[in-house]
Amino acid sequence: MILIDGKKIAGEIKKEIAEEVVKIRKNGGNPPHLAAILVGHDGGSETYVSYKIKDCEQVGFKSSLIRYDDDVTEEELLAKVKELNNDEGLDGFIVQLPLPKNISEQKVIESINPRKDVDGFHPENVGRMVIGLPSFVSATPFGIVELLKRYKIETSGKNCVIVGRSNIVGRPLSVLMSQKAVNATVTVAHSRTANLVEVCRNADILIAAIGVPGFVKGNMVKEGAVVIDVGTTRIKSDKTKSGWKLKGDVLFDEVAEKCSYITPVPGGVGPMTRVSLLQNTLLSAKNEIYK
Ligand code: NAP
Repeated sequence: MILIDGKKIAGEIKKEIAEEVVKIRKNGGNPPHLAAILVGHDGGSETYVSYKIKDCEQVGFKSSLIRYDDDVTEEELLAKVKELNNDEGLDGFIVQLPLPKNISEQKVIESINPRKDVDGFHPENVGRMVIGLPSFVSATPFGIVELLKRYKIETSGKNCVIVGRSNIVGRPLSVLMSQKAVNATVTVAHSRTANLVEVCRNADILIAAIGVPGFVKGNMVKEGAVVIDVGTTRIKSDKTKSGWKLKGDVLFDEVAEKCSYITPVPGGVGPMTRVSLLQNTLLSAKNEIYK
């Protein structure tokens, strides 16, 4: 069994990005600039945004953080999005989700200029991805495909089962995995899938994006399968400094015995998600998606 080291691969990609930034600056250009809007003080969101800012610093990007309290109105937020849409000094921005209940996330996503939508959530980017046009692809699916590529894992003609059909992971990933560059035969499973154990056991590549710790057990995995664990559920822990730890969707010890490759949690898909946002921002800065 080979442990897929997402942290190592993400580190390599960061180095490549940093080198590109040096080149841009040498040629008289500005460093790529990413902004993040953060509403409220949710612990998870605070952590994710602080990672994004830190990642920018590490590769030489400029970053900006715009904060609002929970009581921000939808109008105020939409006005800020409009301002960022027209900010020529900005290559991309994200609005950290979830947003407070009184704000429509869909409305906010749809108000973002697709050319600056480095999260790849705008319907225009999703649509472009589906028909194989250059697009900003959402970070987690982008990172998973990159991970498979960098480990030279054969995907062509393989049966890929994705458990989970969310708009940010399962569904876009199913499109990427079936595209001609990847050529897998894809099944998308979800909470209404019949005979899920059988369906999963048919997978050469099994991707779990569910959010239920330890859901994928040894009996659901074919001998020699590649297993990608997207799940990251925060569990309280008295053994860590932060007071919590991350648990994946895969029962690691049981599944690792059977598979050929597996991603750990943490240190698998997570670091790839983070680096994909940087990749999208760089693509935007170089005008490589919308020419
Ligand atoms: P989500 O929107 O809650 O979607 C979960 C999916 O799992 C749904 O499609 C749901 O089916 C399916 N599901 C739930 N229980 C199931 C069951 N018993 N059997 C079969 N399918 C089941 O979650 P998400 O946003 O995609 O995230 C999934 C996990 O990935 C979470 O742990 C999240 O924290 C993690 N995540 C990690 C990263 C990373 O960078 N590592 C990035 C994003 C998300 P229905 O559609 O039928 O309800």
